[in-house]
Amino acid sequence: MDNCDWCSLSEKDRQFQLYESRYWSVFLADEQDYIGRCILVLKRHCGSLSELTDGEWDELRELIRKVEACLKAVLGATLCNWSCLMNSFHKEPAPEPHLHIHVRPRYDKPVALGGNVYTDGEFGHHYALRKSGAIPAGDREEVFSRLKEWLDR
Ligand SMILES: [Zn+2]
Repeated sequence: MDNCDWCSLSEKDRQFQLYESRYWSVFLADEQDYIGRCILVLKRHCGSLSELTDGEWDELRELIRKVEACLKAVLGATLCNWSCLMNSFHKEPAPEPHLHIHVRPRYDKPVALGGNVYTDGEFGHHYALRKSGAIPAGDREEVFSRLKEWLDR
């Protein structure tokens, strides 16, 4: 679809692509409010989970297994919060939602990266909506390269 940003991702947008399968792409999210936060994006324009094909669902199940195992193995995540929200598209006068799924790893212990320590202060509760997602670029690079190395094995 021409006017959909998610259908025409630039090279820059793809800079933090972690993994690609037949139907889905996985990106490290810009927001790192929960370290290792990623987005799974369907490679075709489709507005809702209810419209996925059987093949897309099968691959999504495998991808959820893979990404969750990666976040646990590499970063020590205790669990993952998966969400398919799609709300922000509907701020537009003519919404054209493009299916994507957020995964926020949650931690019962601090995560150490490049001399910094990140704590999941809301562990055991719903993820925070207004928590800063900015982390130093070097820490983001480290998360990206560690996750990508595991996913590329
Ligand atoms: Zn699209």
